[in-house]
Amino acid sequence: MTEDLRAFRELAQDFCAKELAPHQDRWAEQKQIDRQLWHKAGEVGLLCLSIPEQYGGGGGTFAHEAVLYEEQARSGDSGWGVSVHNGIVAHYLNSYGNDEQKQRWLPKMASGELVGAVAMTEPGTGSDLQNVQTRAVREGDEYVINGAKTFITNGAQAGLVVVVAKTDPAKGAEGISLICVETDTPGFRRGRVLDKVGLHAQDTSELFFDDLRVPVANLLGGPEGRGTEGLGFVQLMQQLPQERLLIAITAVAAMDAAVAETVRYTKERSAFGREIFKFQNTKFELAECATEAEVSRAYLDQCIERHLRGELDVPGAAMAKWWTTERANRVLDRCLQLFGGYGYMAEYPIARMWTDARVSKIFGGTNEIMKEIISRTL
Ligand SMILES: Cc1cc2nc3c(=O)[nH]c(=O)nc-3n(C[C@H](O)[C@H](O)[C@H](O)COP(=O)(O)OP(=O)(O)OC[C@H]3O[C@@H](n4cnc5c(N)ncnc54)[C@H](O)[C@@H]3O)c2cc1C
Repeated sequence: MTEDLRAFRELAQDFCAKELAPHQDRWAEQKQIDRQLWHKAGEVGLLCLSIPEQYGGGGGTFAHEAVLYEEQARSGDSGWGVSVHNGIVAHYLNSYGNDEQKQRWLPKMASGELVGAVAMTEPGTGSDLQNVQTRAVREGDEYVINGAKTFITNGAQAGLVVVVAKTDPAKGAEGISLICVETDTPGFRRGRVLDKVGLHAQDTSELFFDDLRVPVANLLGGPEGRGTEGLGFVQLMQQLPQERLLIAITAVAAMDAAVAETVRYTKERSAFGREIFKFQNTKFELAECATEAEVSRAYLDQCIERHLRGELDVPGAAMAKWWTTERANRVLDRCLQLFGGYGYMAEYPIARMWTDARVSKIFGGTNEIMKEIISRTL
């Protein structure tokens, strides 16, 4: 932490308390946040935090992103897909986009005019990304895209989707390209906002492409529209450490929030003539949970520092992702137990945290895939 980051934390905390926390029930009911939130966030400078100022971004570092996601999780919000927008999509554009692409899309993402999504997963394939079936066939100066994606965060509100498509189906990973699709293009169709066990305020959606035509200039990074064709898988792999770190940040912040919330509750409620907190079991459970959060944070902080130096590798980030999400699920379950029946009531934040956390072991690459990656280095 630095003075600058501390000041930024105050701004983020204030924004989350005013603009996120009060709307949780309504957003869960409408299965998405208010579209207006993106504009509000853009106005106060919370979008594209670590993108250079010349493209409308905040000119900050990943540390600013980390602070925002931490404060978001602590405020109890899990609906706003800002980590996908800021931490993933903007970075695909910034890292691989040519200057024209960056000028065209990043300033609009920074103002909230354009919401970003990344569409890798399909109904038939998730972990096995090389096997995507969405096709982008070149016809003259255009790609014609056909296919279906599912589980796409920001899917209902996105104005720009980075689509993972096969430009050469005869090849595996080398046949994959990333193509930017503006959602007002004919042939783009949104499906359902999916009903989930948790993350009720997040607009996780199906997307369909039916003979959707985009100029070859929409190939991410392709000068003359072709230079990066077939490099999509490499581009995806290079961004993975940051994407997994985002999930780990939220997991550790959720552990902190759950412990704080449970300490508060168990000190207020009594049974057998004393505070629940005073039972040795409660104290020991919470002591263990607080320890798990602290120990997880130590490794997470180390990973953030490595990432800021550009040194976080894929296995290191995979360790952070599986470890912190596994711990978070355990800690949240133990905290929920200390709430008794109230812990199972949706109106209690601990219940929401518990259901929201479950998916962290699945998305961003499942924890089994994380262990697969780590084991390759052993
Ligand atoms: C709420 C939510 C938001 C999401 N947001 C996005 C998004 O914005 N963009 C996007 O593209 N995707 C998104 N996803 C998709 C997510 O990344 C995938 O669900 C995930 O990668 C797993 O893919 P799958 O669902 O196809 O499971 P599968 O790949 O079918 O896996 C099923 C099971 O098999 C196991 N398995 C698979 N392969 C192996 C192996 N080699 N070794 C051991 N076990 C294996 C898995 O670990 C898992 O337990 C989201 C998902 C959810 C639920």
